[in-house]
Amino acid sequence: MLFVISAPSGTGKTTLVKRLLKELPRLRLSVSTTTRPPRKGEVEGVDYHFVSLDEFNERKKKGEFIESAEVHGACYGTSQYLLQRDEEEQYDTLFDIDTQGALNLKKERPEAILIFLMPPSLADLEERLKKRGTEGEADLKRRLARAQSEMAVKDHYDYVIMNDKLEEAYKALKGLIEEKRQKKNALS
Ligand code: 5GP
Repeated sequence: MLFVISAPSGTGKTTLVKRLLKELPRLRLSVSTTTRPPRKGEVEGVDYHFVSLDEFNERKKKGEFIESAEVHGACYGTSQYLLQRDEEEQYDTLFDIDTQGALNLKKERPEAILIFLMPPSLADLEERLKKRGTEGEADLKRRLARAQSEMAVKDHYDYVIMNDKLEEAYKALKGLIEEKRQKKNALS
């Protein structure tokens, strides 16, 4: 099964995704390829595959990505090969990708379940991004502006989960994935 989680930057998505991967069996993250430089603590091959722009373009030309998008001035792509490997090894795949990527993936793979994580408000999001402190002022503004346009796309998602309290959002996310898996098992 394919589970796609999108959320504006700073919504707490990475924390939730990491916990889901730790607690749910047979679920793997689709590790994206990006031209963005690694943030402190990010590990090659775990958080992302970090590549140069030339390398990214080369891979894109070869058709390695099932979808790719430009986000906050960097390129991001989802590998066909990793997805295929998960399917062969009977893992479900979790995608942490932006709204363009999610909608493009849904075109390729209509069975993908799209989940949008909503921040309680833009003011709250700004606060969280400032606390995180990983972006400079200009990048922070860009991420906030983008959050508004991303939130406008949420109606195209299959599910919207409000991330007001992290624990409650986690329970809702985990419950949704477990329910979908149970339904699929009951059918097969
Ligand atoms: P960040 O730079 O904060 O890790 O990610 C920025 C945005 O890019 C996030 O919304 C994240 O979900 C998205 N993203 C990460 N990987 C991919 C990908 O492979 N494809 C697309 N379309 N977006 C991605």
